[in-house]
Amino acid sequence: MSDIIQLLPDHVANQIAAGEVVQRPASVVKELLENSIDAGALEIKLILKEAGKTLVQVIDDGKGMSVTDARLSFERHATSKIRSAEDLFKLNTKGFRGEALASIAAIAHVELKTKQENDELGTCIVIEGSEVKSQNVVVTPKGTSVSVKNLFFNIPARRNFLKSNTVELRHVTDEFHRVALAHPNIAFSMFHNGGEQFSLPATNYRQRVVNIFGTKTNEKLVPVEEATEVLTVSGFVGKPEFSKKTKSEQFFFVNNRFVKSPYLNHAINAAFEGLLKDGYHPTYFLNLTVDPQTIDINIHPTKTEIKFDDEHTLYAILRSSVKHSLGQFNIAPVLDFDS
Ligand code: ADP
Ligand code: MG
Repeated sequence: MSDIIQLLPDHVANQIAAGEVVQRPASVVKELLENSIDAGALEIKLILKEAGKTLVQVIDDGKGMSVTDARLSFERHATSKIRSAEDLFKLNTKGFRGEALASIAAIAHVELKTKQENDELGTCIVIEGSEVKSQNVVVTPKGTSVSVKNLFFNIPARRNFLKSNTVELRHVTDEFHRVALAHPNIAFSMFHNGGEQFSLPATNYRQRVVNIFGTKTNEKLVPVEEATEVLTVSGFVGKPEFSKKTKSEQFFFVNNRFVKSPYLNHAINAAFEGLLKDGYHPTYFLNLTVDPQTIDINIHPTKTEIKFDDEHTLYAILRSSVKHSLGQFNIAPVLDFDS
């Protein structure tokens, strides 16, 4: 009998994990923006080249990292956000898995510059395919800048699988919108191939929706507000006459995190029953706040799926609060919009 099992080297384990965390440039955008938010940034800038295939850079004015932390941040399961398994049930950060930077660094060329407020100088780390190339002292502003170049440089199959720049940029823009909508109090900007795509000042939620989706959106919005013991709902639904053939303006945020939930989406559809023409979908921008102990977001590495303890109650509250709002705004059933 001979033993054949071996532990994989770190860079191989990181590359495998990266397969789950990073599907495309938009995944990198999401992880970096979320890290900047967790760092308490008030202003976040996203810079892209070729839809993020050759460059995704995120610059923030957050709290930065010490020299040692900057190096540790690229280790797998290295996180400042949880200390124990119990912390998973009282999360108030986007991150907690300590996987993103390690994964990204396994499959791209990464340069991180960071400085904490009271430090004179910052640190700059260059890391390529999990291999640290250099770490130097640099002059850099307070906060963190992460540049991710040549995504999937060492996994040609993944690189070839990427779609056209138009399609990849759409994914990036979707991700940018989701994060920006969840945090109207933070200023965001986005640049692509040198041109400014979005410049979103810090504002309130209604204005953030309008700044992203256009001034005409303002008149479409019906406020939804509900506070119960298990769930607080706030945000907007679009008036029925502004429903769309696509689902591109449907947003649920749970505790400030964009989530996909076909079940809760159904609750909104139910509230709109009789108000929409066939083939049209309601638009909504809804923030749900629940006790973090009643949800599990650790279902998938990208964290866009959530498990709720009591889905049925949330469904009922959501449906009735949206129905109530639509009713208050005197929106009576209209079966035929053309007449
Ligand atoms: P996670 O976010 O799950 O903790 P990451 O791999 O995304 O894991 O980041 C690892 C750690 O690096 C974070 O816990 C945080 O301490 C630090 N970090 C990452 N990005 C930033 C940033 N923009 N500003 C300050 N610290 C950061
Ligand atoms: Mg993170």
